[in-house]
Order: sequence, then C-alpha cells, then structure tokens
Amino acid sequence: MPKEPLIQPVAETAAEPQPAPPPEPPVVHHAPRPSLFIVHITPEMAPIAKIGGLADVVFGLSRELAIRGNHVEIILPKYDNLRYDQIFDLQPVYNDLWVPWYDGAIHCTVYFGFVHDRKCFFIEPHSHDNFFNRGSIYGFPDDVFRYAFFSRAAIEFLWQSGKHPDIIHCHDWQTALVPVFLYEFYQSLGMTHPRVCMTIHNFKHQGVTGAELLRATGLHQPERFFDWVRMGDNHHKNAINLLKGGIVYSNFVTTVSPRYAFETKDQGQGFGLESTLHTHHMKYGGVVNGIDYDVWNPEVDRYIPVNYGLGNLDDKYENKRALRQRLMLADNDKPIVAFIGRLDPQKGLDLVRHAIFTTLERGAQFVLLGSSPDQGINNDFWGLKHMLNDSPDCHLEIGFDEDLSHLIYAGADIMLVPSQFEPCGLTQLIALRYGTVPVVRTVGGLADTVFDKDHSDRPLHQRNGYRFDDYDVPGLESALIRAIDCYYQYPEHFRELMKNAMNADYSWNHPGQDYLNIYDFIRDR
Ligand code: ADP
Repeated sequence: MPKEPLIQPVAETAAEPQPAPPPEPPVVHHAPRPSLFIVHITPEMAPIAKIGGLADVVFGLSRELAIRGNHVEIILPKYDNLRYDQIFDLQPVYNDLWVPWYDGAIHCTVYFGFVHDRKCFFIEPHSHDNFFNRGSIYGFPDDVFRYAFFSRAAIEFLWQSGKHPDIIHCHDWQTALVPVFLYEFYQSLGMTHPRVCMTIHNFKHQGVTGAELLRATGLHQPERFFDWVRMGDNHHKNAINLLKGGIVYSNFVTTVSPRYAFETKDQGQGFGLESTLHTHHMKYGGVVNGIDYDVWNPEVDRYIPVNYGLGNLDDKYENKRALRQRLMLADNDKPIVAFIGRLDPQKGLDLVRHAIFTTLERGAQFVLLGSSPDQGINNDFWGLKHMLNDSPDCHLEIGFDEDLSHLIYAGADIMLVPSQFEPCGLTQLIALRYGTVPVVRTVGGLADTVFDKDHSDRPLHQRNGYRFDDYDVPGLESALIRAIDCYYQYPEHFRELMKNAMNADYSWNHPGQDYLNIYDFIRDR
C-alpha cells in the first residue's frame, strides 16, 4: 500500500506576501479495506436471548461491523424461550443438517431470521436430549454437553452449507470448542480459510469436564486432549477445560478491557488460566466494549418519558420524577443512587447491601434492580426489601426488567458498581451516556472507563465519576459519600461531571475498529 503523507505539503506561493490562509484540516487517507465475511457463534444475543453483557456485545458489535461494509452473520441455538416477537421472517433454510455426536449423528434444522437487521441462523436439534427446549438458557447439569453440541453443529453447518467465512468470532467457554473442531477436523477436510477470534467475557466460567465429552464430540484421543499444552485443565489432572482449549486453538483471544486482560494474566484473576495466558500472550489483548447508541441513548430512548441530551439536560429530572412515581418514592430534593445488575457475588453484593444503608443515612434515595438464578440470594434481597418496605426513599426491584432499567439509567443521579471483579461492565458505560454519575471500584473495565473527580491523572474534562480501590466498607464509603456530598454541596461540579460523562464516546465506533484490526492481523498469518 503506498504511503500517503497525512498532511498535504504546502504548495509553492507567489513572491507577493499573502495573508496566511486558515489552516486546512489534515487530510487523512483511509486505504480501502476489503470487506470481510464474519460469523459470530454465540450462546446469547440481545434482545432475543440475554443473560448478561455478552448478549449486548454481540448485538452491538455485529451491527458496527456490518455498518463498516462487512458481511456479518450470527449463529445461535434455537432456544424455546427466544424473544420470537423480535425475530423477523423466521423460517427453516436448511433441513438436513446431521451433526456427529457419540457414534452417530443428530438431525438438526437450521432457521434464518432477522433480529433488528442482523442476519441470524438458529440451530434446532431433534433429539431426546432436548438441548435447547428447557425454558431457560443456562443452569442445567449437562450445560457443557449442550454447548459442545451447539459448537459442533455451528461449524458443521458452515461446512455443509459451503460457507467459508474470513473470520469466525466465538464467545466464552460455550463456543470455545469451535476452533478446536476447526483445526482438529475441518481443516483436513479443506476448511483452511477461516481464522478464529475468541472473546472471553468472564473467566469465571470455563466449562471444565471429564473424558466423556471427548467421546461425545469425537475428539477420540484422550492423551492428546488431556495434554497440558492443549485442553488439560491446569489444576485438575483428570479434567479438560474448554475455555483453555479455545485459548490454545484460536488465532487471537480478546477479553473485554485492557485492564482485565492484565488482571487475568498477571494479577491472579484468570481463575487458573494465568499460565495459559502467559504462554499465549502474543495473541491476547483487551478491547473495551461499546454500547449500542441506538438502544442506549437518552436523546431517542423510547422507554423513557422525556428524551434529553446535553442541550436540555434539565429534562433528565422529568425522568427522575417518573421513576419516583413508578417506584412510589418520595418526591424531594434528594439524589437517587441506583444499582442494576445480576445479583452475583461478583457484583459486590455485600457492599451493595451496605451502600443501601449508607445512602439512606446520608440523606439520599436508593433504587436496586437485580435478580439471581440462586434462590438463596434472591431470598436475602427479598428479606432486605421487606425490611425497608416502609422507607419512602428506597425501592428494591427483584427481577429482570429491561424497560425499567432504561428509566433507572435516565432517572437516577448516581450509579453504583462496586464489583469484586468486572471484566468490562456495561452498567457504568450506559450510566455515563445518561449523565448518571458512576461510583465504581477500580477494577477491570471500570478502571478503564471511569476517572475519579478528585484523584486522577486525567485532565478535568475527562473526569466522569468516583472510584475506590479497596474492596471494603471504608473504600466504598470514601467514594459514595464524596458523590452524595458533591451533589448537595457543589451542584455545579456535579453537573460538570454529568456533562463530562455524556461527552465521552463509548459507542462501538472505536472497539469496532479495534476488532477489525485484530481480524486483519490474524488474516495475514
Ligand atoms: P454482566 O455481563 O456481568 O451481567 P454487564 O455490566 O456487562 O454485566 O452487563 C449487564 C447488562 O445487563 C446491562 O445491560 C444491564 O443493564 C443489564 N441488566 C442486568 N441486570 C438486569 C436486570 N435485573 N434487569 C434489567 N437489566 C439488567
């Protein structure tokens, strides 16, 4: 590719002195890049199959890649509990997919439909295992087998239908066997073109299992796959680790923020995979997630009563009023502190509990929206809810409610994210977009995206929230109380924080380009 100068050389001028012309903006030449055929293989995608941030990432990233001229397809299991109302023109397109499984094969039908313009294929197996007709996405004793089957079916579908993507992008342990199958089975059949990028959204779940899986999937050489250099679990001698297999076999591995990439490799946060990441560090990196500004944007959000932006920031407070009405909170001049998230210990639940009481003591209101698959945790929060039932300044909503989450992002003043660990975190990114000031622990993607008002090496206009380092009560209070006090005592400073938050670009624009650079990098080898 010929190198063009970024700034055009100044032309020779006549002898007569001339007033200096206004400076021209630098001309940046983007070399035309070839369009790529990219296939995402994923267990989740918003809004049709969403448990957590992974679902939002596939939805947002696939759109960004398509906008940039690439051909993008997505392969998902055909769960019985998909949001079918959000899938347009769903129909079977491939009736005869036979997927090897144990000593035989399982017959599958593949459907195609559009999900908000995204091209999606859905795999439906016809077998007594009933892999994807169980009313929920995860939580079954045979989850490892369900997703091993899905991974095999997805790549078998690519093979049988003659699709040769440039890039296969898979997500988390559920699809980590895709590159293993590609390089162990399909390359020798002639599928040599695709390169695999795997994104790890959370190292906590890895798909650790025994030899039975090798029999199910046809990976028949235990001595080969139990080997430490391939899929042998780093800590359990008689186990294989699917996520590890994904790391070893993929051409590139990303996680969802540079800080989490560092923490997982070098700070003991890799749940046992630190040494594997060290071995493969040359193909490992972090890309901060974006958020989809068509969905998460207070200027156009359909779920909030009054749209607002930097030009009419005061209209945010109409949403605050609406939130209070909906949750029957007192209408007063207090700030609202909110928490939205899975009720998982990862999210810092003991600090959340403590924050509720600190918030009320400091004269603010608290709103929580969250749920857990663990009934014990749900019960704890139900207990707390009953205890605080009479407070006009507190509401705990135990459940999953996407619509309500929009109103909370818009109506709250402060968003609390006190996680033990946080690969990227979307709640603080969404909060920033809505001018809701984040209070976060300095960890993972939170540390990459939130910059403390009082303690930061960032310029003032980039400071957008509050952070605390230590996972303990004094740590939490040091940040939360500063935020509440600032709201009361220095409202103009608080408003600056809101504006800084809304000014930052956490769309898919930058991460989209980062992923394309990674795809180009692995295509060249
Ligand atoms: P994780 O992937 O660990 O769950 P993220 O912060 O990356 O956490 O993503 C969480 C996403 O799920 C955000 O879009 C958040 O708004 C949404 N979410 C979490 N819990 C709920 C809930 N109870 N109701 C509605 N949305 C929720």
